[in-house]
Amino acid sequence: MQITNSTAPRPTRPVRSGILTLLAILLGTVLAAALVGLVLLSVTGWIQSPDETASAHTSSVSVGSDVTSDEPPQTGPLTEADGLIPAGTDITAGADLPAVTRLNPALRAAVEAATAEATLDGQPLYVTTGWRSARYQGQLYDEALATYGSEEDARQFVATPETSTHVTGTAVDIGPLDAMYWLLEHGPDYGLCQTYANEIWHFELATTPGGTCPEMLPDASHLGG
Ligand SMILES: [Zn+2]
Repeated sequence: MQITNSTAPRPTRPVRSGILTLLAILLGTVLAAALVGLVLLSVTGWIQSPDETASAHTSSVSVGSDVTSDEPPQTGPLTEADGLIPAGTDITAGADLPAVTRLNPALRAAVEAATAEATLDGQPLYVTTGWRSARYQGQLYDEALATYGSEEDARQFVATPETSTHVTGTAVDIGPLDAMYWLLEHGPDYGLCQTYANEIWHFELATTPGGTCPEMLPDASHLGG
């Protein structure tokens, strides 16, 4: 009897454990498949994101290396690549145009910060001229030369490509007129100063934020413009 009792459950045990084993194998397979799926997904994700990062880097590098690799063509009409701002377009220092992306980064950041405060004051502040290619500056200078007749007179209004602070990306001309007055008052908070007495629109980083602007030069012939 004892033998029967003890042996009776025996046949069911292997069956149960067999089912359990099968379930365990099935569960294991499902889990393994899920894991493989997850791994594949994450691997794909990993592969994609470095790619995106790489291409983002490539594009930002190409923007940053404009100075050497993406110089505007030396012939044909001037384009945005020369720092030209399309007529009738109001752009701010944060715009995605070479005229502002090729500015000295510290100057651009200062103008962007000032623009943010001006906007809060209800005063729009646009960049009418930022960085210019040497060829663009040369054309402006040639036009001034034709207009004023002598180098001495022309240089009071337009700097040569060799001396222009626009070509070096260290100056911005801003507008409209009210923004010029606004920046004259608030610009020094950001280190921004009007540097030529005859160019109320022309600003450069010329002091430390909150500092005092240096005395203005009479006109661009004395340094840059
Ligand atoms: Zn200027």
